[in-house]
Order: sequence, then C-alpha cells, then structure tokens
Amino acid sequence: MGKFLRFARRVFVSTSLLLSIATMMLWVRSCSTGDSFDRYRENVAGPGTYHDTRGVFSTRGTIGVGYLRMLPPHVQDWPADEGWKRRAMPAQPVAWPHRWALLGFGYWNAALPTGPGGGGMRMTGVKIPHWFVAWVFMLPPAGWARRAWLARRARRRLASQLCVACGYDVRESTERCPECGTPVPSPDGKGTLLSLLPPGEG
Ligand SMILES: [Zn+2]
Repeated sequence: MGKFLRFARRVFVSTSLLLSIATMMLWVRSCSTGDSFDRYRENVAGPGTYHDTRGVFSTRGTIGVGYLRMLPPHVQDWPADEGWKRRAMPAQPVAWPHRWALLGFGYWNAALPTGPGGGGMRMTGVKIPHWFVAWVFMLPPAGWARRAWLARRARRRLASQLCVACGYDVRESTERCPECGTPVPSPDGKGTLLSLLPPGEG
C-alpha cells in the first residue's frame, strides 16, 4: 500500500473514531439538553401564507431531521427569520405522532391542529438513535484495532515458532502445521506471515 493510501486510511479511521466519541458525548448531553440547528421563515409565499421551519436536532437519545409547515390563519407567534441558527433548550422527548418508531428509529408525517381558529400544521421527518450513529462511526476504528491485534499475534507466534494461524508448536514441523495444515514459514519469516498480515501493518 502506498504512503498516501496509508495516510488517507489513518485520517479516515481517526476521523471516524472522533465522530463516534463526539456522537456519544452528544448522546449524553441529549438526556438533559436538546440541541437544534434550524431556520424559521415567516409568510414564505407572501403575506398571510404559511410559515415553515426545517432543521436537524438532538434530543433524548435521538438525532432527527424534520420540516414543519404552519398553515394560515395563524393563531401563534412565529420566531423571526434569523437564518440558520444553533439553539439549545431543555431536552424534550419527540412527542408528535410517529407513523413508525422502533428502538429510537422513526419517522413522522402528520397534520396536527394548532388550536381554535388556527390553520393547523403539517410536519414530516425522520430520527435515528445516537447509539446507531456512534456504532457506525466505531466500525472503521474497530476493524483497524482487530487487524492490528491479528498482526501483532502473528508476529509473536512467528517469533516463538508457533503456527501463525492456530498457535500450535511447529518447531518440530518442517512444511505444514500438524494441527491445521497452514504452511510453516521459513526461518527468515517470509511466506505465510506476510499473507496473514494486513497491508500496511507489517
Ligand atoms: Zn496451525
């Protein structure tokens, strides 16, 4: 593997690890604090028309992305358009009706009333749990750690003249491990060990 590829993989694995840790920290934070990054717009299609908001949020163990449209006549104040903005508030469970929800995954697409005289609202969105996002980001570093551990074990076995595949003592064997049939490497360490080591870890 070339130097650049090795470097790129290292960056990818470290970034993934950091993102996983950041997601876990956000998960802990989401138990008490809800975070969102969103934008509110008023009278989107002209005076007296609908308001809307869209954004991403993190609250009570789930990360969501959603859109909400508030239909006229409006009976509630609507936040002014301040562009895309990060907001923090006390964590609330995602309380609106879901079409489907399981283990922190879910989606909603619902029309809800907005009180007497109000035109109602329409909301749609999806959510996924923090644990799932953290788990996905943990896959590359876990794979790297496993390959590094296998390579280390193979080197240790080779140094002690044990079969690199199963650990059986092959000091008396010349060609193949009597236990699993893996070819015994030559004393210079070439051959089977290299085939077991992941690229770039040798
Ligand atoms: Zn063996």
